[in-house]
Amino acid sequence: MPTPDMVAAHASAVIAPGATIGILGGGQLGRMLALAAANMGYRCHIFAPEADPPAADVSARVTRADYTDREALARFAAEIDVATFEFENVDTAAVRYLSTLVPVRPGARSLEVAQDRLAEKQFVEALGGRPAPFRTVASQEELVEAVTALGLPAILKTRRMGYDGKGQVRLNTPADVDTALAAIGHQPAVLEGFVTFAHEFSILLARGVDGRVCLWPVPENRHVAGVLATSTVPAPPMVRAQAEAAGTLAASVAEALGHVGVLALEFFACEDGPRFNEMAPRVHNSGHWTIEGARASQFENHIRAVCGLPLGAPDLTAPAIRMQNLLGEEVHDWARLLADPAAHLHLYGKATVQPGRKMGHVTWLDLA
Ligand code: AMP
Repeated sequence: MPTPDMVAAHASAVIAPGATIGILGGGQLGRMLALAAANMGYRCHIFAPEADPPAADVSARVTRADYTDREALARFAAEIDVATFEFENVDTAAVRYLSTLVPVRPGARSLEVAQDRLAEKQFVEALGGRPAPFRTVASQEELVEAVTALGLPAILKTRRMGYDGKGQVRLNTPADVDTALAAIGHQPAVLEGFVTFAHEFSILLARGVDGRVCLWPVPENRHVAGVLATSTVPAPPMVRAQAEAAGTLAASVAEALGHVGVLALEFFACEDGPRFNEMAPRVHNSGHWTIEGARASQFENHIRAVCGLPLGAPDLTAPAIRMQNLLGEEVHDWARLLADPAAHLHLYGKATVQPGRKMGHVTWLDLA
């Protein structure tokens, strides 16, 4: 069993190609991380509870176990040189335990803040960011008070386990106030005032072990039914005008968290400036375009950061780039997309198609 000193000494060292990177989570983000790691000569070991995780197809080893299984985590730690995650709803106590055995990048602090919408908003607000107006809601009484304070329409979101528009309900009329808490399973929540925005965008950054930060050009993101549909670079002028302030905020969030790796912050571009929506302490769907569209992709720079290497350049490889998700049945378009010489097709190898499920994505570079 290594001592804390041994883990700390290891934490400052470069993890050279040939080493094994452990990834908590086995979805498409883990798959693309493992592919980037393989390109740089690393091996990946996936830790996930699912029977057939998409990342397993492209990784050297897989441990199938629950994230809270300490024995499995200890065996995993013994076989890897560093750990990271591609899924943020991993139990933070398990991540803290893992980090006594092997360096974990980013650390548990990034997870703790990003797992809880309330903590995340307060953290960003304390650093000068502006979330949508919000109130904490744990009871019907608090919901009524929150609606009185913020007005309608508003959105009730669970504090935890929400993603892709899940765990949230929109309140349009006073009648919705009676049913909203039941609709989210009476979980602790926040009520957000409805933001009128012109565009949505995200800041994607990578932060190295040495504290250096790389920011990619900002994509404009369009969502359909709460799920990302497209990311486009360059973003419209209004977004670009807000990117510097949002990027400075994101860099200070990363620094305050001591974050190592990719961090994504989502924003609404409003008439009066950017408003923070939410963050992800990991590679992000709105950064998939960087695989072909940037000199170093978010996946490559995440691996570089996690291994203590210098970060690659985030510059664009084409004047215009568009990424489109393939959701559910859209995956069956693969043959038509392959026939398009400008399309870069990525399929995640998921065996079952479900409506809205992220099955793959396509990126077009405009080389004109
Ligand atoms: P989220 O899962 O919180 O990112 O929400 C999914 C999508 O719902 C966002 O990308 C927005 O398009 C929309 N949305 C979320 N919160 C708000 C809000 N406070 N005001 C207006 N639209 C919102």
